[in-house]
Amino acid sequence: VLVIGGGPAGSTTATLLAREGFRTTLLERDRFPRYHIGESLVPSLLPILGLSGALEHVAAAGFRRKGGAYFEWGDEEWALNFGEITGGPTSSWQVTRAEFDHLLLEHAARSGVEVREGVEVTELAFDGERPTAARWSETGGGGATGTLDFDFLVDASGRAGIVATRYLHSRRFNEAFQNVALWGYWRDTAPIDRGPDGAIAVCSVPHGWFWAIPLHDGTVSVGLVTGKEHLKADRARLGALDAVYLDAISQSPLVARVVAPGTLVSAVKAEQDYSYSTETFGGPGYLLAGDAACFLDPLLSTGVHLATFSALLAAATTASVLRGDVAPDEAIAFYTRGYRNAYERAMVLVSTFYQAYRGKDSHFYAAQQLSPRDRQGLRLNEAFLNIVTGVEDLRDAREGAFDAVVEHLTRAGAGSHALLRNYNQAHDPVPLSPANALGGLYVMTKPRLGLAPAVTASAEAGRP
Ligand SMILES: Cc1cc2nc3c(=O)[nH]c(=O)nc-3n(C[C@H](O)[C@H](O)[C@H](O)COP(=O)(O)OP(=O)(O)OC[C@H]3O[C@@H](n4cnc5c(N)ncnc54)[C@H](O)[C@@H]3O)c2cc1C
Repeated sequence: VLVIGGGPAGSTTATLLAREGFRTTLLERDRFPRYHIGESLVPSLLPILGLSGALEHVAAAGFRRKGGAYFEWGDEEWALNFGEITGGPTSSWQVTRAEFDHLLLEHAARSGVEVREGVEVTELAFDGERPTAARWSETGGGGATGTLDFDFLVDASGRAGIVATRYLHSRRFNEAFQNVALWGYWRDTAPIDRGPDGAIAVCSVPHGWFWAIPLHDGTVSVGLVTGKEHLKADRARLGALDAVYLDAISQSPLVARVVAPGTLVSAVKAEQDYSYSTETFGGPGYLLAGDAACFLDPLLSTGVHLATFSALLAAATTASVLRGDVAPDEAIAFYTRGYRNAYERAMVLVSTFYQAYRGKDSHFYAAQQLSPRDRQGLRLNEAFLNIVTGVEDLRDAREGAFDAVVEHLTRAGAGSHALLRNYNQAHDPVPLSPANALGGLYVMTKPRLGLAPAVTASAEAGRP
């Protein structure tokens, strides 16, 4: 198996496959540790790190424990305490991704993956629709090139998304969440003294929102997410990105207070964090995992969870296809549906969260609403039913599901708060048991990782 990319999606997929005895090579363009944004982790990824065997290394690394999240959202403020979550881990970590990703990659190598850093996949060869070989070249002046044949490919190349962008041309950007992020690292700040210990603070400002994430190296990651139009206008008014960033900080009382005694110790970094997805998450002989398949606005810190969740599904799917246990088409359909469900569920939550914002007459918040095109094909009720309890009319709602939820929240005065708590409580409906099967298949982890047919009650009853 060839895995492209050594981020959380690639290293977790490769580790799980190597532990199942598959000969797995991972090619990573950069040399680790390498910088990456995306520092705040949600607890639902812990069980997946447990399965890959990486959890103990992450737990021992000394990252800042994250007890939850604190929100100042319009005129609402509340804390989400992971300690109140039942049936799952009750805390997570704020990580420096250079260290976190390095740790996962080293764990992959220890698990038997042939990891090659500083090696970029430059081209893929196809036999019909099936990729069969990768052309690679050393980065950083090495100069060596070569070709690698494989039986199965997992593209975990992140936002570069080599298969979707270069070959399938299938990446589609959401009309909502066309945002830009500006961020930097501060030292000697005042503490974020709100919410549970180690919480991420999420604070809305008129044209966007801020994250403030305390890290174990003593810095605080402070980032602004704003609309591209606002950024353009602010740049025309204020000039450099730094000036736009600092001006926005002054609009958030909490963030301004936290950074007031501190010093900005990094350059202000910028990234367009537009959300996107692709039509299909796999095809003959390949799967797309993590950001290579889809990406979601970082409002609820779901990226690394989705990356590792898709890695688990991808490893189980790949293992079953290669063992000949499940017909490839069925397995790929299972993978697409399993990953898409989790992605869509997070996406409708992010969108509802923006929509329930009290100051939604602001252009920024209005621009975060899913357009009719974005909503097309979404299984909204499926996505919502798992998140929201007590919204009976949802069962029948189709087109109206979205508005029904927002209306329910507004009526109940519960705001985005209740929605978020429910989301974290419910976890992803992981097809990890026959009861949660998708298309008749589920992920079994014992005695080996793979897809297994769910034996229905009636079939079981008919057994001799
Ligand atoms: C502004 C912003 C804030 C975010 N905040 C959070 C957060 O707080 N919490 C969270 O969970 N997520 C957050 N995310 C999302 C998170 O960063 C990603 O979802 C996550 O990194 C996805 O992991 P991945 O393994 O799919 O991709 P990546 O981590 O991007 O890894 C992909 C790897 O592939 C390599 N690669 C690319 N092309 C090639 C090639 N051709 N050959 C070989 N290697 C290649 C790259 O070098 C890279 O190392 C944020 C994202 C943004 C933009």
